[in-house]
Amino acid sequence: MKEKIIIANWKMNCNPAEASLLVHRLDEKIAANKKVEIVICPPFIDLYPIHKEINKEKFALGAQNIHYLDEGPYTGEISPAMLKGMVSYAIIGHSERRNHYGEDDKVIAKKIAAAYRHTITPILCVGENLMDRQHGSSDKVVTDQLEADLAMSTAEEIEKLIVAYEPVWAIGTGNFAKPDDIDHTIKAIKTSLTGLFGERTSQSVRIVYGGSVEPTNARVYLEMADISGLLIGGASLNYSQFADIIKVAQNL
Ligand code: PEP
Repeated sequence: MKEKIIIANWKMNCNPAEASLLVHRLDEKIAANKKVEIVICPPFIDLYPIHKEINKEKFALGAQNIHYLDEGPYTGEISPAMLKGMVSYAIIGHSERRNHYGEDDKVIAKKIAAAYRHTITPILCVGENLMDRQHGSSDKVVTDQLEADLAMSTAEEIEKLIVAYEPVWAIGTGNFAKPDDIDHTIKAIKTSLTGLFGERTSQSVRIVYGGSVEPTNARVYLEMADISGLLIGGASLNYSQFADIIKVAQNL
């Protein structure tokens, strides 16, 4: 396993031609590196063409979402069975899906189980909103999410989990969390995982931070002992900025 992981969440951006260009530009800008894994999560429509052309020594692919069933009458959905062999990762429980599409912890737990069924590593997003933060309940909100979202998974499966701690108030706002803000919640995540699955499993889970990361603030997170990497939205759509963030991780 590589030391750091940098994940790009392109969200609902880039048609196939734009996606191809973005990956091509990024490929030109960065070198393959033994220490840093780069994961690109494009929209579904871009996944297959990018899977065909991407430099697999440099990049892995992830889905931004999956259904929890393998097939059936679910118009507009994509199942993990359909993605097998194409993606290594899937973002599950992003706050935009929780907030705009009413995804609750029960559905998220099923999606996590579905990802494991198809040997796709889940990137489980958890995070408190601004009001939770103002009420001092960040740790509780996040650990409650974690417990409910992992209810259908075993300790053995969880060893390969990535938890993305993304304070909702920091996503796409420019209000990135300061290391002191997140240190406490990340420790609470680790304690919760230890309580649920044991020390060994908790040690092997990777925790990444997401929320308004840019080249100028990436280093402070990457230098935190408990952080294994970053989940990046806005800045991942700019190949130059994203490459600069990758270089910070490569040069640590
Ligand atoms: C995200 O959407 O997961 C995210 C972290 O976005 P941004 O980097 O734009 O805050």
